[in-house]
Amino acid sequence: MNKDVVVRFAPSPTGYLHIGGARTAIYNWLYARKTGGKLILRIEDTDAERSSEESIKGIIDGLKWLGITWDEGPYFQSHFIEEHLATAQRLLETGHAYKCFCTKEELDRKREEARRNKADMRYDGTCRNLTPDEIAEKEATGLPYTIRLKVPKGPGSVGFQDIVYGYIEKKYEDIEDFVIVRSNGQPLYVLSNAVDDIRDGITHVIRGQDGLANTPKQILIYRALGKPVPRFAHMSLTLDPQKAKISKRRHGERVAVHFYKEHGFLPWAFVNFLVLLGWSTPDSKQIFSKEELIEAFSLEGINRANSIFDIRKDDPKFFTDPKALSINAHYLRTLPLEEIEPYVRAELEKAGIWDPEYAGVKRDWFLSTVDLIRARFHVTTDFATLGRCYFSDEFPMEPKALKKNILKHGGLKEWFPMLADRLEALEIFDAGGAEKVIRETAEEVGIKAGILINGIRTAVTGQAVGPGLFEVLGAIGQKRVVERLRRAVALFNGL
Ligand code: GLU
Repeated sequence: MNKDVVVRFAPSPTGYLHIGGARTAIYNWLYARKTGGKLILRIEDTDAERSSEESIKGIIDGLKWLGITWDEGPYFQSHFIEEHLATAQRLLETGHAYKCFCTKEELDRKREEARRNKADMRYDGTCRNLTPDEIAEKEATGLPYTIRLKVPKGPGSVGFQDIVYGYIEKKYEDIEDFVIVRSNGQPLYVLSNAVDDIRDGITHVIRGQDGLANTPKQILIYRALGKPVPRFAHMSLTLDPQKAKISKRRHGERVAVHFYKEHGFLPWAFVNFLVLLGWSTPDSKQIFSKEELIEAFSLEGINRANSIFDIRKDDPKFFTDPKALSINAHYLRTLPLEEIEPYVRAELEKAGIWDPEYAGVKRDWFLSTVDLIRARFHVTTDFATLGRCYFSDEFPMEPKALKKNILKHGGLKEWFPMLADRLEALEIFDAGGAEKVIRETAEEVGIKAGILINGIRTAVTGQAVGPGLFEVLGAIGQKRVVERLRRAVALFNGL
């Protein structure tokens, strides 16, 4: 293992795994795999009120579904609180931090006053230079205190070369002496996160853009502790087409990875899509196998520009980003059948139309039918909806198809039973045999074959489009085709 690269994915378990988190996890994972380094999973659960077991499970399940593997962990930030506090203690002892006895009321009052005077609202350093005697005196009276980091005074600054955003600099004078331990004795996140990264030997912090605000403060903590500063790479944002940040409030369940799992995405297809939200190769390649992606990935390829996810496509044909759907469709069409078989099975089971024989004596039929119909599908759920007619005799009839292909042609009332009889009489029922019967019948009754073809398609599948009709008939099989044609006569009743 390459010891020069240690990265981590550090989710806060306050909800499900969302697409931004998943993308960050994927980038960390790809970087670790690319460099032969190590990926650590760290659950940042110090916010006890907002963290939950359910969320931890959801995040881990989501990562597993995506196929992301980590080398260490999950570690839990809450198990290291003593260490975070001991570190604050060390910073106090080395003079890099100090106890601040200012009360919340005092601070609020000063801030309010500064606001009114349009003056500097940051902490004014009242407790920065207390003498040891003053400190001892205040402590003796039992006054609670926070611990603040002593930000250097003077003209200097904290700068770092972000791998995505370039050089970022913040002047000391723009950073207040920030709190690292609350008066109730709890370490602040900015401290815990840095201490954990130091302990875990993190070399590259690859995280969401929201981490950017903490970075200068964290670098000050590293410096105060005399530790090497890791490299940072902050991800750009993902926006919807209206340029609003993708958020649960605005986009609901669609921010969650499980939404895409439940809506028929193949995990690798979804990884492939997420990766391209904010990362690209110079030749804009779109489809990557796992090996290709690991090979092609680089932190330098991460785009600074925000990416767009058409998360709630307002189009009945596309329930989400057409690009996501087309990538998924690509995998659905091209993966070896055995690889998509379990996903199709799961969809049919969910819909209650799975026949155990599809895994037994009917497996060849099952796989060839999946192969026939997958070309038009975008998501695995399509097998149970659009593909339902292949697996069940109960399937919906599209009203438009019914009207156009059946009801408009009154002759079908006679032609359907005639075709049913003739198809039933075929000794070998296959695409070629069915085609011959249909074309001959069309000629005999003096209509275009297309009228019979469209009518039959709708009678046996409920739809107006699909794969070549003769192959469809071969897949649905003689008995079912004959039954459906006879049954279709009843569609004219009530007219
Ligand atoms: N726990 C933080 C989050 O979920 C991640 C912070 C980091 O990666 O440094 O947003």
